[in-house]
This record gives sequence, C-alpha cells and structure tokens, in this order.
Amino acid sequence: MFQINDHYQKLPGSYLFSTIAKKVSAFTQEHPDRNVIRLGIGDVTQPIVPAVIKALHQAVDEMADADSFRGYAPDLGYDFLRRAIADHDYRARGCEIQEDEIFISDGAKSDSGNIQEIFSAECRIAVTDPVYPVYIDSNVMAGRCGVYDSAAQMWSNVIYMPCTRENGFVPEFPKETPDLIYLCIPNNPTGTTITKTQLQAWVDYANEKGAVIIYDAAYEAYITQADVAHSIYECNGARTCAIEIRSFSKNAGFTGVRLGFTVVPKTLLCGEVSLHGMWARRHGTKYNGAPYIIQRAGEAVYSAAGQAQLKEQIARYMKNAAVIKEGLSAAGYEVYGGVNAPYIWLKTPGKMSSWEFFDYLLENANVVGTPGSGFGPCGEGYFRLTAFGSYENTVAALERIRAM
Ligand SMILES: *Cc1c(COP(=O)(O)O)cnc(C)c1O
Repeated sequence: MFQINDHYQKLPGSYLFSTIAKKVSAFTQEHPDRNVIRLGIGDVTQPIVPAVIKALHQAVDEMADADSFRGYAPDLGYDFLRRAIADHDYRARGCEIQEDEIFISDGAKSDSGNIQEIFSAECRIAVTDPVYPVYIDSNVMAGRCGVYDSAAQMWSNVIYMPCTRENGFVPEFPKETPDLIYLCIPNNPTGTTITKTQLQAWVDYANEKGAVIIYDAAYEAYITQADVAHSIYECNGARTCAIEIRSFSKNAGFTGVRLGFTVVPKTLLCGEVSLHGMWARRHGTKYNGAPYIIQRAGEAVYSAAGQAQLKEQIARYMKNAAVIKEGLSAAGYEVYGGVNAPYIWLKTPGKMSSWEFFDYLLENANVVGTPGSGFGPCGEGYFRLTAFGSYENTVAALERIRAM
C-alpha cells in the first residue's frame, strides 16, 4: 500500500485570497450599485511593451521556418539571454557574475520553491515575518518545518525574524543560528527595503555562520533610492554565501509569459561540493529549459528600446504608489513602503485588526486590499495596498479613503 508524503498534510489551508474573494462577492451581491476598486492585486496590469512584443513575434516566425526552428532549449538557458543578464544586471553594477552562473527558468516562484531541494533535510530555515508564503510552504513539503501551531500561526522548527515598525522592517540576526536565510528585498508584502550597508551585515553574518542567503530580488526594478543594493552581489563576500533569484514578472509584466533566473556563484561551496554543480544537475534532470520565444522576449527586455519602455511602465506603477502613500499620509494613516516597491503597508487605525480594517474599507470606501495578518503573525494590525491598479482607480480609491 502506498504512502503519501505526510508533510503535505501539515500545510494549513491557504484561505487568504479565497476569503477575500468571498467577502468581495458577498458585498457586490448586496450592493450591486457600488463600484468596488481592487487594490489588493499582486499582479501587473499593463501590457507587454512593444519592443518585447516585436521580439516575441519575430521568434514565433523563426519557429515556422525549418532553417531557424529551435527544439529543446539548453537546460540552463540560451547564451544570448544569459549574456544580456550578466552584462546588464551584474557587470554594469560592478558585480562579478559570469554567464554560466545564471540559470534561466520559468519564474521566481518555481526557483524559490525548488532551491531548498539541494539542501539537507536537517537545515533550519529563517524567514522574515511577514513573509512571501512560498519560502515556508516549500520547506514544509520537504519536512523541514516541524509542527504547525495554528493559534500562533508558526512552525516549531522555523526561525522567524519579525519585521515591524518597531525595527523599521529590518530583520535582526536571530538568536538561534539558521542554515538557510530567505530575504526578499525590496519586500513583498511590506514594500520596505534595507540599505546596502544593512545587507552587507547580513552577508557578513551568513559567511561567519556558514549559512546561505536565498535572496529574492523580484522587485529590483522598483528601487529608486541610491543606498539600496540592486543585487546581493554588490556586497563583499556574497559570492560565498548567496543565491539570488530574479523574475521578469514584475519588471516586465511577464506574469503570464513566465521567465526568471537564479544565480548560483561557482564559489558557493559546502566543503568541496559546489552548489552550482548541484543546481545544474537538478535543472538538467527536472527541467527542459524555458521556451526559445520567451527567452528572446527576455533578451528584448534588455534592449535599449525595451529598457526605455519598461522604465516608463514602472514609473506609471510608482506614480500610483505615490498617490496611495501621499493620500494615506494626508488622511492621517501611518504608511510604509511604496518608495522602492509597488506595495504600501499601512498600520491599521486604532486597535483594528487586519481583517476588521478589510471589512471597514470595503464597507465605507468600497476598496479592496489585503489583510497583513495573511502574511504572518507580525502582519497583524497592518494592511497591504498595491500600485498595480490603473491610475484613475488609484486616485478614486484614495479620494474615497480620505472621505471616510
Ligand atoms: C511575484 C513574486 C514572485 C513571483 O515571480 P514569478 O517569476 O512570477 O514566479 C517571486 N517572489 C516574490 C516575492 C514575488 O512577489
């Protein structure tokens, strides 16, 4: 008789977005006349820019011709894309990352979920609280997290690093020593960042403890402040302790197109064993490469026209972020984020819980956001709004919130 992977049974239900959908649908049924504005979405809304669409069309046409047709892509990615990434994302910023240290994939969710496979089941993970849930859930499935305490919403074997207004949303070194440290900077859900100096301290800590930092830089393109690192490899010593994960989803609108990559430096070793070699083996065994046409689209993201068009696209989202941030501040709210990320994290007023504020906002402003408590216990008493809506809706939502 077969047995299942019991660790899956330990996963608590993921009710956050389904509960939101149910509440919104109940509200719209009761009030069909109200125009509900959704600022809870974590998905981009602007279309793929023309330079990228042109490259996609060209690549599709190449597939129709026997001379330019391509079959299986190289497992680790086409050289043209790996070179563009190494040049633009790394060498241009003074980071010594080579083409062959870059592994092309279908996105950052898969990579951030899969990367734990190359580590021992005994490794202890440290995550920020609140957190992007994939880091924890993928480790639960692998049996690393112990037992779940549903009252505390915490796992017995996970090291939590609270990120709250009290510490300026900067994770502190934990009391217990972790083996794997997940950092998402700029952060989803809080929209906050840490400075390059603070990141350097984490790199030093990881090297000292023999830990690996899994660095999710999905929001790198939204950084506006000069003292925030665009890559962890801007820090000294990161090549011996850090894996960086990137995505084309938020910087180029590829959420439905699918493309990302992971950097594993060849100097990242466990004794004599190279993690680069292990990840290459894993990729080669379980993945047959991102589609050629999508990798050509990814290459176009780095073209001069692509870069210019995407800069404008991001600026449009960040204009929304400013509208939300300034509007909320003017209405007397305590707000964080929104400067280097498309997320605004607000403190709920008075003693309102995250879900009480959700209901209050839906009822009185007909605006939908995401309760902070859905991202971890330290998210309680906070609320996330996103800049991915249209400008008109964002302005209208803030007018309503200010009028509440
Ligand atoms: C959106 C997001 C991703 C997802 O990236 P994909 O490339 O679309 O899989 C990864 N990490 C964080 C923190 C995100 O918010």
